[in-house]
Amino acid sequence: MDPVVTRFAPSPTGRLHLGHAYSAIQAHDHARRHEGRFLLRIEDIDRTRSRPEHIGAILADLAWLGLTWDGEVVQQSHRLSLYTVALERLRDMGLLYPCFCTRAEIAEAMSAPHGAAPLYPGTCRTLASADLSRPHAWRLDMTVAVARVGALEWRDGDRVIAADPLAQGDVVLARKDAPASYHLAVTVDDAAQGITDVVRGVDLFDATHVHRLLQALLDLPVPRWHHHALLTGTDGERLAKRHGAPALATLRERGDAGRALADRLRAGDFPNAAIIPTFGL
Ligand code: GLU
Repeated sequence: MDPVVTRFAPSPTGRLHLGHAYSAIQAHDHARRHEGRFLLRIEDIDRTRSRPEHIGAILADLAWLGLTWDGEVVQQSHRLSLYTVALERLRDMGLLYPCFCTRAEIAEAMSAPHGAAPLYPGTCRTLASADLSRPHAWRLDMTVAVARVGALEWRDGDRVIAADPLAQGDVVLARKDAPASYHLAVTVDDAAQGITDVVRGVDLFDATHVHRLLQALLDLPVPRWHHHALLTGTDGERLAKRHGAPALATLRERGDAGRALADRLRAGDFPNAAIIPTFGL
């Protein structure tokens, strides 16, 4: 078997909290258990929300937890041309269409039943003509893309999952304000960095259907996935700063022992009784 390569891929849009620490430890320990490599990738394509000052704090937090990463830290904002090449390839295959909709227009046209993930209603899929001088995103025509590659599977730990990208609708692959979306950048980078095992939270489980499809369309290698439980409050709310979860930087700066905290998280001893791991959302 090829050597294991995992990654932690935070977006520098805020400070890391215990949920991030838990996720980074899972990915790090998976690599170390298999004598593999653990890479760090900063996912900063969202220019409006990413802040360079958070990057230094992320590196300091991980080092404080006792996690070591291999090789250079990769930053997505330095790799935009790679995403453009992949986007052009998909466009040349006739799988993309420009979308001029504003968020408000999409919300208005949305008819998702209550509780279901809102899907793009397809407004721009059949435009007779498109003025590309106007701001636009590029969407994947999901029905055409799925028909092209047929049935796909992926592995989540020991389970074989039938890919269901259709359920995600016509996802955005390039945004109006960025040359790539999360889905495209993460798929290109996981392949470019030779990631064999994607260890990440179960909140991204549905996104994996899309990533598996993009791998098939772009002839990219297929990793194994390991979606782990999320830390949530006892009320079921996801752990995020807005729910009052302490930032790792706060604990670090007040002198808490980071390695001891990491060991407690490994042992399932969550430092705040109100925090529990929850599968699914
Ligand atoms: N950048 C994503 C996030 O911070 C994680 C991406 C991934 O692990 O695939 O939620």
